[in-house]
Amino acid sequence: MVIRADIGVIGGSGFYSLLDEAEEVEVATPYGPPSDVVTVGRIGSRPVAFIPRHGRDHRFPPHRIPYRANLWALRSLGVRQVLAPSAVGSLKPELGPGAIVVPDQLVDRTSGRAQTYYDAGGAVHVSFADPYCPSGREVAVAAARAGEWQTADGGTLVVIEGPRFSTRAESQWFQRNGWTIVGMTGFPEAALARELALCYTSLSLVTDHDAGVEAGEGVTHEEVLAFFARNVARMRTLVSDTVQALPEERTCSCGSALDGIKLPFELP
Ligand SMILES: [Zn+2]
Repeated sequence: MVIRADIGVIGGSGFYSLLDEAEEVEVATPYGPPSDVVTVGRIGSRPVAFIPRHGRDHRFPPHRIPYRANLWALRSLGVRQVLAPSAVGSLKPELGPGAIVVPDQLVDRTSGRAQTYYDAGGAVHVSFADPYCPSGREVAVAAARAGEWQTADGGTLVVIEGPRFSTRAESQWFQRNGWTIVGMTGFPEAALARELALCYTSLSLVTDHDAGVEAGEGVTHEEVLAFFARNVARMRTLVSDTVQALPEERTCSCGSALDGIKLPFELP
């Protein structure tokens, strides 16, 4: 039997227990192995493929995650809609720990990451004006609100290279630009998803305020991990609810992102 799933989740290892009838699949890609073996199972009636973004043992720091292999592996298993839960810092005093942001914009402040599949075979330019799937966003916002999360519908995620956190000056600069949250993994994940014509939706859980917001002390890794651990069960429910409410058939434009573009390779 060929193992297939049409929904992909890339997130923390706390999400394993979401999947019923789970099977592990090793997927080879032209970009090397994904962060870990892919677990394919069901959430409700929906077939889902799950990849722990940092690897099961958390061996990949944000700047070393094999992003290209992860998205490629998901698409090759049949995935067309990707849900990406992650932990973020907030740049807004009113969005404190425990808020869910479903961003609609992204600013890339990473450097040196492999961020495209179109490395050879001619120039290919995909539209990335709106980096997130509108249908996925709508579903995620509704699920978060139904789960009684403080929910921000839209906002700008600035992705920093890490693994260090922001300086106060950087954080204040992000705030002055009107950006909403800071993370380390949302790029190139979103761009690679678009290059494979996948829907991509970010579910960002605020774990803390970034340095410089409300003159806080700044962030420690322990604080982020402790907060995330306390919220893992609730996040599981949110991811599960969102997955089950995603459309069976895509009506958004994500799937036609590559129409009329001559690709240097066959899509998996
Ligand atoms: Zn879409």
